[in-house]
Amino acid sequence: MDESGIGNGADGRGLRGPGRLSERLSGRLRWWLPALIFVLLLAAALSLLSLSTTHESSQAQEQLITDTLWVKQTIQFQLDRSAETLQVLAHDIESRSLDAAAVRGRLEWFVRNTKEAVRVVYLDSAHVPILSIGREGNELSTAMPRPSAAELDTMVVAIDQARGRGKPIYGSPYVSDAGAMLAVHIATPAGQKAAAPGSVICVYAMSRILDENVPWWFAQDHEIVLSDLEEKVRGVRAVSGPGRGVYTHQTVLELDGTSLVLKSNSIRGAPSWILGALRGGIAVLTAMLLLSLFALWRDVKRRVHAEDMLREEAAFRKAMGDSVVTGLRARDMTGRVTYVNPAFCKMVDYAADELVGKLPPMAYWAPEYAHEYEERMAQIRAGNVTATAFETVFQRRSGQRFPVMIYDAPLLDSQGGQTGWMSSIVDVSEQKQAEEHMRMQQERLQDITRLTTMGEIASSLAHELNQPLAAITSYLTGSVNMLRNGAAPLAEIERTLEKANQQANRAGQVIRRVHDYVRKQEPQRVAVAMRELLQDCLPLIELQARNTGVRVTTASADDLPTVMADPVLLQQVLLNLTRNGIEAMAEADREHKRLEISLRNEGADMLRIDVRDYGTGVLAEAHEKLFSPFFTTKTEGMGMGLSICRSIVEVHGGRLWFESFARGTAFCVSLPGCSNDTHRR
Ligand code: ADP
Repeated sequence: MDESGIGNGADGRGLRGPGRLSERLSGRLRWWLPALIFVLLLAAALSLLSLSTTHESSQAQEQLITDTLWVKQTIQFQLDRSAETLQVLAHDIESRSLDAAAVRGRLEWFVRNTKEAVRVVYLDSAHVPILSIGREGNELSTAMPRPSAAELDTMVVAIDQARGRGKPIYGSPYVSDAGAMLAVHIATPAGQKAAAPGSVICVYAMSRILDENVPWWFAQDHEIVLSDLEEKVRGVRAVSGPGRGVYTHQTVLELDGTSLVLKSNSIRGAPSWILGALRGGIAVLTAMLLLSLFALWRDVKRRVHAEDMLREEAAFRKAMGDSVVTGLRARDMTGRVTYVNPAFCKMVDYAADELVGKLPPMAYWAPEYAHEYEERMAQIRAGNVTATAFETVFQRRSGQRFPVMIYDAPLLDSQGGQTGWMSSIVDVSEQKQAEEHMRMQQERLQDITRLTTMGEIASSLAHELNQPLAAITSYLTGSVNMLRNGAAPLAEIERTLEKANQQANRAGQVIRRVHDYVRKQEPQRVAVAMRELLQDCLPLIELQARNTGVRVTTASADDLPTVMADPVLLQQVLLNLTRNGIEAMAEADREHKRLEISLRNEGADMLRIDVRDYGTGVLAEAHEKLFSPFFTTKTEGMGMGLSICRSIVEVHGGRLWFESFARGTAFCVSLPGCSNDTHRR
């Protein structure tokens, strides 16, 4: 967590200025780069695919060429071998003077062993067929062929050629009832037997040439066609159907006398399913890539949005931190200051960078309070402190001390783990001054009431003093008379003077008590024995009571706790309550004019004072307002008595209330006692 960034960094608006431009540029780049990579990747994949397809095609084509050439060679070899056999046969016919049966046997043997041959004909020199062995299904027949005139012409030309060149001559392929045929003509050499030599013609069915010479494994995958040079198809072998025209090859089969074209056409198309699978794969990958790019784009967009929100939030918080008058200070778990707001800087008169990043002791710590801060820090670290306020004193740069109120709250990160503490600090100097002012006002009011009470009892005082003064006067007069007469013994005179002295002391005591009560002094707390305090002010109470004919009785338990209190203020409470009681009984009958003051131990070290009268009682409408300042039902009243009594009692940690009876009221005070037994006197 770096809160100092918020406290000291550039302001939120700065982040929206030039920074945004470069951000936008880098944002664009962020999208262009993957898009470019994506296109390049796609292009590479497609070219790889096309390369591999081409490679495969060329391999298949090469294989086809090799196989076709192999087939061509096989056919050629087979035809050559057959021709050679026929040549030997023809030679044997002429030279060995074979008889008709032997010739026939040889020819039959040839036809039986040469599967592509459909017929062999032996002709005499006049080209008249003498012997013909033909294949009809699996049987051999000797039916004589009857060639047409045109056929005969071609045959004659071919035989002449064969004779002239001394080797077998092939005629052009022709179509007969049984399909396309290819004939080879062999002229027998001139022998001893016949003056004019004959010839042998072998007719091959072109389809059988293919059937017998093309191996099955090649035929299975290819359509093989034999055609003449005019592109007329003369023989076809297509076991597995027509070729697809993807892989084709043709080669010329050179024969003496004619040429044939051997064409092979693969029934295999391009490697379509692999290609399809690859294309499908690329399409799926492309789609997935696009999808993930889209997801990435959405995620980045969301993050950018969240960042913007966060920035705004930070700016908002900074503005808030800057505008509040309360000092704000954040610390990490080690106590290092991570953030201070301007109000705090102003309060202690230090710049933010003089405070942020610093570890205790801090510059604004007043040395004499350092132990308090350390203690508080230890408590915070131990986790004993929640949001409770802590009052202490800080110092400004000038060294001037000022009271502060600190409220600490834990700083949590997004996971809820604590990262430090946030404190708000309030300068309570003015509040303190106001409180002091209030206290002084209150005291002055207490003085005024005291003096007022005093004024009220002043006349009674005069009466009280009258008695001792009159007694003193009569004692002194008596003494003077005794001295003048000279008759009285000295001891008598001394006793009379002693009495006068006692009366003077009594008058002096009255005066001193009044003086004690009226004298203005700072409130001070001492251990007070309540019974003695009551005895002290009892004469003043009786003074008022006697004037109105009220009898005062006191009752006091023995086990009273002492209280830590200001005795003059407690006297003031007693005098106020007793005066109210006496005044409430002004109109009462003589026998009811009784004021009871009782002191007792209430338990739990609490002292209880009851002032009970038998007067008018508190009026129902006065119940609520009795303790409010300036509430009075008396024409001469000020209405401050009970209000002041209550604040005095509460200042001493006690409680003041009243209880109503059928006749009269009791005002009750309960005060916490102290175990300290040092009495005032
Ligand atoms: P003040 O005596 O100047 O009126 P206090 O605050 O002492 O002011 O009393 C306020 C009012 O409370 C009195 O005017 C009176 O009506 C009522 N009061 C106080 N003490 C008694 C009492 N013992 N009996 C009946 N009423 C009382």
